[in-house]
Amino acid sequence: MPFQSLGLAPQILTAIQEAGYTEPTPIQAAAIPAIINGGDLIGIAQTGTGKTAAFTLPILTKLTANPQPEGQRRHTRVLVIAPTRELVAQIEENVLAYAKHLPLKIAKVYGGVGEKPQKDALRAGSDIVIACPGRLLDLMGQRCADFSKLEYLVLDEADRMLDMGFLPDIRRIVQQLPRKRQTLLFSATLSKEIESLTHEFQHAPKTVQIGKRSNPAETVTQHIYELPKHLKLNLLSHLLQDEKLQMVLVFSRTKHGADKIARKLEQGGVRCATLHANRSQNQRLKALDDFKAGRVRVLVATDIAARGIDVDGISHVINFDFPHIVEDYVHRIGRTGRAQAIGDAISFVSSDELDDLRRLERFIGRGITRKRAENFDYKAAPQSLEPDRPERRHQPQQRQQPQRRHQEQNRRPERSRSSEAGPQRSGGEAPKPGQAKPKPRSFWNKLTGR
Ligand code: AMP
Repeated sequence: MPFQSLGLAPQILTAIQEAGYTEPTPIQAAAIPAIINGGDLIGIAQTGTGKTAAFTLPILTKLTANPQPEGQRRHTRVLVIAPTRELVAQIEENVLAYAKHLPLKIAKVYGGVGEKPQKDALRAGSDIVIACPGRLLDLMGQRCADFSKLEYLVLDEADRMLDMGFLPDIRRIVQQLPRKRQTLLFSATLSKEIESLTHEFQHAPKTVQIGKRSNPAETVTQHIYELPKHLKLNLLSHLLQDEKLQMVLVFSRTKHGADKIARKLEQGGVRCATLHANRSQNQRLKALDDFKAGRVRVLVATDIAARGIDVDGISHVINFDFPHIVEDYVHRIGRTGRAQAIGDAISFVSSDELDDLRRLERFIGRGITRKRAENFDYKAAPQSLEPDRPERRHQPQQRQQPQRRHQEQNRRPERSRSSEAGPQRSGGEAPKPGQAKPKPRSFWNKLTGR
């Protein structure tokens, strides 16, 4: 089905052509006519399926059909709410590309940067506002936004917003919007919580669902390497000797772990960048730019970064730490294999993560292929992710360090509200106090059958 048959405005068809899209993805083919027709919509689609265009293109078409009068102060007609600032920036980038031939003003709103330019953009009047919930509420409280004539509300990555604890903020935002509006809700999964959210915010929505619910992107090849935790860095360096791993996104559960992995890889001559909540917004954007431009081969990130990353051509996603939450796995591996491209997802699983792996396999309804690394020294000396503190090596207090570190990490959660945080779902980046440490030796015995 060509884009021309979907009822899109000519300026938008030109922009799509310039973006190099030849035909609509399945979610676009299903959602675009439905949204143009009017009525609320629930879109269930996996990451990387083209859902940003699926809601943006029909909304732009409808805005064009009914433009705001020239010369008057504009009111906001479209509000898109998304969970992370990276995702907001990404959506804005897409909207700007699709709307490049339209005289529309677009503003983005998120925490972690100065409020002034965002307030100015809102006060000047923007047709489309793309926002994270926390900062948007702050600015609405300061009466910077005019949503009195809002026509379209999009809740993107709604499942993630719920997971991140944004529901109260979203409720407070939606209460201040006109009741008569078209509300579009997109989510990778359709859980009971999402269904109740749709009852709360939508009116008789139509559901468009692409692919099986919650199944990881089908274009991604998935493999598991079971190994003792202390060999994970060795295995990562070993796999990176293969040049087929051109553009690699590595997921670490902790910020500290991400820094450490990047440092060790850099020491081995692999160019790396890191993306996590302890990095400033500018550092994060630079890391993403360097990765997109190929200046670094590996980007080491925590989960918080998983949702916002829209980088074409990621060849491999490596779960250095296996995620506790099945949906995180889906979103992590969805960073590769985007828009029908082929990708590989590799997970390192140590003995303490086997339960999480089994839970995922039950969730997706099948086992993931186990691999054994060729020419990898499973008896090599370990590379630990513990902090380098040689000066403390002979001090009697040394054994207390892990506990102190846990306390420190627990005091500093991954994200704060002001930086678009939500409560951490899975205990955040810090290992849970009292969590059993893996026993590499016995796991090694299990692996080798000794
Ligand atoms: P999304 O799921 O919206 O994050 O989109 C994933 C990627 O697919 C983005 O890089 C889009 O630019 C790209 N994309 C969206 N629609 C199409 C299409 N019809 N053809 C090719 N690529 C597309």
